[in-house]
Amino acid sequence: MDVAIVTVGDELLSGETTDTNASWLASQITDRGAIVRRILTIPDDRDLIADAVADWHDEFDAVVVTGGIGGTPDDVTLEAVADALGREYVVHEGIRDALREKAARFREKNPELVSEYDLRLDVDAASSIPEGATPISVDEGWAPGAVVENVYVFAGIPNEMKAMFARVADEFRGDSTAKTLYTPAPEGALHDALEGVTERYDVAVGSYPRSENRPGRVRVSATDEPVVEEAVEWLRERIETVEPPTE
Ligand code: AMP
Ligand code: MG
Repeated sequence: MDVAIVTVGDELLSGETTDTNASWLASQITDRGAIVRRILTIPDDRDLIADAVADWHDEFDAVVVTGGIGGTPDDVTLEAVADALGREYVVHEGIRDALREKAARFREKNPELVSEYDLRLDVDAASSIPEGATPISVDEGWAPGAVVENVYVFAGIPNEMKAMFARVADEFRGDSTAKTLYTPAPEGALHDALEGVTERYDVAVGSYPRSENRPGRVRVSATDEPVVEEAVEWLRERIETVEPPTE
């Protein structure tokens, strides 16, 4: 399964927020045997989001989008996904009813917040999703995510995003498998072994240099586990390895 990740947010592009969603999702999806083929960060811009989703929903098995789904005017991701798939953007009655109830409970529990601020939740905006989409509502947040065709839309706030991913995690799978070797050798010393292993075995190999307090890494991946094992054994005989570092 080939997956593309799109993280949406002006604050990511300005460097104000570090894009931890992309790396967290990439490792979760990779752990499930699927392959992340692209990660793209784009502004909160309806047309740009729609173009990216329209292209990648054809090209990949799944597109995961995070950010820009709140009920505030700068949140345009779900409208953009509707555009990308040629669907209307409509109020979901079930979500609207649930949100009204949740808001009433919140006001009851937090009277001081309600009297201090002019609290407003645009219920219609927060309960709109592309027509025909399946909402992903989680206790952690107000606005739901959504699944529509092969496009998964999650919140930007990391704990909401993680809760939403957990609901659909089983849909991400594949037979890609990988093994990582750790080596104290400098990258320059690995050249022949890295070249040789890809000539002999149908594997992808990534080499990541050592740093002051971490050994270098050689990651071997393929869709065939025994091939990965054989390639790793072949490498072990040719490069010096050490135990994985404890975090
Ligand atoms: P949003 O859903 O786009 O309104 O984002 C809400 C908040 O979630 C932002 O203010 C960021 O702090 C955080 N956030 C959004 N996108 C990401 C991301 N890709 N990685 C980490 N945090 C994020
Ligand atoms: Mg945002």
